[in-house]
Amino acid sequence: MPADARLYAYSAVLMGSPILLKLAEHDEKLAGDVFRLIRQQENLFTVNRAGSQLMAVNAAAGSHPVAVSAPVFALIKRAREVSLLAGSCFNFAIGPLVKRWKIGFQGDSVPPAHELQALLALTDPARVQLDEQQQTVFLPQPGMEIDLGAIAKGYIADVVRDFLHQRGCFCGLINLGGNLQTLDAPAGETAWAIGVQLPFGEPGALIGSVAVSNKSVVTSGVYERYFELNGRRYHHILNPQTGYPLDNELLGVTVISDRSLDGDIFTTLLYGLGVEQSLVFLKDYPQIEAIFVTREQQVVLATQQPFRLLDERWRVIDSTV
Ligand code: AMP
Ligand code: MG
Repeated sequence: MPADARLYAYSAVLMGSPILLKLAEHDEKLAGDVFRLIRQQENLFTVNRAGSQLMAVNAAAGSHPVAVSAPVFALIKRAREVSLLAGSCFNFAIGPLVKRWKIGFQGDSVPPAHELQALLALTDPARVQLDEQQQTVFLPQPGMEIDLGAIAKGYIADVVRDFLHQRGCFCGLINLGGNLQTLDAPAGETAWAIGVQLPFGEPGALIGSVAVSNKSVVTSGVYERYFELNGRRYHHILNPQTGYPLDNELLGVTVISDRSLDGDIFTTLLYGLGVEQSLVFLKDYPQIEAIFVTREQQVVLATQQPFRLLDERWRVIDSTV
């Protein structure tokens, strides 16, 4: 782990998350520009505040197609493709359910089953119409809503990385709250040690760390956003088949990849598949690596990046050997 004294850290709260930027050189101006860029990107994709292009698409559901900018169109197109993969638990049309549950926001509650059933009917990703020529998106039924919450941060992390490179900055790290993109490690180091969080632990408590550079590390966990009611825990990744939070042996998935967009897509996809199916699925994607954290206190490694266990209560299972 590089001594933080040799790095300059800049932080802000954006997109509802603490954002951390680390640079090898003190550059207030660059940090300010990065945070501005993130805010500007967020304004394209948020579904929690009026004025975003995505909000305009959602507001026109059942009424008319809405033209969006090229990057927004491309991200929606990618999200639709991933949502239509066979067996995919990823669904970018899941907005009506996310809004109803309000998990992690004030007023979260368990909706009645009949309401969830009714909302499920509004979440078919295949019904979202994209017009490549016109660059428009159309939701054919009132109440349909796109939610890019599972991938927007990944996309933005890549935009920040490219921006830093353009500005001649090649050493550093951006952490968008669960979505991390690393550049070169600091001078004298071969990698960044990126922590894998202890589920439901104190802030900063780690199971272990993974050593990477010029890679994205994205984590999705049931402990990130949830509420409890009558002894049950309801977390923020929903099963598009049932309308309830996904329920399997996983507490969290960390994906290591070049692009953070891929990392963000795959954390949600793999979370839905569970460990065993994920390991099979990943055989088709050699550029995507993963670490699974299970309820049985296992850390299942499907990565070539060096992993260091820091909490001896957990057992490491290396699926690559
Ligand atoms: P992440 O933080 O990347 O795990 O994404 C979680 C966010 O994605 C949630 O807060 C919702 O906004 C959205 N979401 C929840 N369930 C799904 C799902 N099955 N497919 C796609 N997005 C989802
Ligand atoms: Mg994700």
